[in-house]
Amino acid sequence: MMESIFPVLYLLASASFILAIKWMSSPTTARRGVFVGEIGMLLAVVGTLLRAEVVNYQWIFIAFFIGAAIGVPIAYYMPMTAVPQRTAFSHACGALAAALIGAAEYYRQKPHGVVMIALIVEMLLGFLTFTASMMAFGKLQETLPQRPITFRGQNFVNLGILLAAVVIGVMLILSPERTWLFPIFAVLSLAFGVLLIIPIGGADMPTVIALLNSYAGLSASAMGFAFDNKLLIVAGALDGSSGFILAVIMCRAMNRSFSNVLFGAFGTIQTAVTKTTERPVRSASAEEAAEILDAARKVVIVPGYGMAVAQAQHKLRELHDILTKRGIEVSFAIHPVAGRMPGHMNVLLAEADVPYDRLIEMDEINPEFPRTDVVLVIGANDVVNPAARFTANSPIAGMPILNVYEAQTVMVIKRSMSPGFAGIDNDLYYMDKTLMLFGDAKAFVSSIVKELNAVAAGS
Ligand code: NAP
Repeated sequence: MMESIFPVLYLLASASFILAIKWMSSPTTARRGVFVGEIGMLLAVVGTLLRAEVVNYQWIFIAFFIGAAIGVPIAYYMPMTAVPQRTAFSHACGALAAALIGAAEYYRQKPHGVVMIALIVEMLLGFLTFTASMMAFGKLQETLPQRPITFRGQNFVNLGILLAAVVIGVMLILSPERTWLFPIFAVLSLAFGVLLIIPIGGADMPTVIALLNSYAGLSASAMGFAFDNKLLIVAGALDGSSGFILAVIMCRAMNRSFSNVLFGAFGTIQTAVTKTTERPVRSASAEEAAEILDAARKVVIVPGYGMAVAQAQHKLRELHDILTKRGIEVSFAIHPVAGRMPGHMNVLLAEADVPYDRLIEMDEINPEFPRTDVVLVIGANDVVNPAARFTANSPIAGMPILNVYEAQTVMVIKRSMSPGFAGIDNDLYYMDKTLMLFGDAKAFVSSIVKELNAVAAGS
């Protein structure tokens, strides 16, 4: 009886995972996607526990309570801004689990043929993803130095270590009885994970995490082949492909070639010498900015990394509310790589309850800019830099941007003339139509809101 139930549960779990990924691709259905994904995972766990192979529930429940004791506080106490490192940590745990299950199965059975091939793939990806994800976690948490660490012949050394791990893996596949080779295989795979990450700058970790997500998924999929578990194959393949697609989308949006990612050579862009020219800019006060906004009919707000740093999203919501109440059309332009992780702006604006339908993606909002009276850029820099479009030799040439320079008036809130992530000057700031609003994003938006409230009270 039980044996006939678990394939049905597995099928329902697989369908839930597919729906979860589909629904998570839009902010309006994302919550539903997360919920159905959780249901899918519950079905998968229940289905697995019903299988006849389970011989001892005691150990499973001990592991369950240890996992919950770690997972629940993380879910409650890690702030939204720490989501990238939290994701890195969960990848590390998943990958370590896959690698250890593989190791246990190897020592228990020393299988031959296809099963051993699948185990080696599982453990190679599992071990390297574990250390690489922990390195990514350390860089994002700033417990490890963020700057890229490079040395001569680095790619050569890295490839050499990977090659050695693969060769030993092949030797183990050919004769699994040579158990003394296994610790060498494990250490080389773990070492490769560390070396893969050290040349990459901290700010590039989100892209790396998407790729590590893919590796962890492929490791789980290989485990599915080793254990003849179809659900693991499906879930791992979904994880592997979605992580890979996300990494490709992020590379495109940042105008990086994918081979850069594969060879771990990216992140060096931050070391580029920062040059900002001494040209005059026009600046304005909060009072002037409030007057300009109040006179507009159509306003587009462009949030960026600085909004996240300042945690200005709640004040922005207030600004949205007060402008909307005064009959002004307000929308938020969302660039795919604004901030430092995919969906960074969406998550923060959702936290502040900004209505989803006011968040407009880049391709949809770009044709709107010529009809926009005022664009208010808040802590965004690279994603609105016209150099990407007009300066052929710029480091960001070809990167898709929000065409804010086409609006009637542009106002930019930032603290100084410092560049953004790409380390380059922004011609937008020197245009006649641009007003610089110097200050911290949260403090400046608060002042604008105060001024607008005063106007509203007076009118
Ligand atoms: P950005 O180009 O990094 O610029 C952020 C700006 O915010 C800076 O110029 C800074 O200027 C300002 N800022 C910082 N703290 C502030 C504060 N407290 N108040 C006001 N302003 C503040 O940001 P972006 O336009 O969002 O572009 C994102 C960049 O990150 C892109 O180059 C993208 O390729 C890269 N990236 C994104 C991801 C992702 O997944 N989203 C991943 C990796 C890399 P001041 O110092 O003068 O204030």
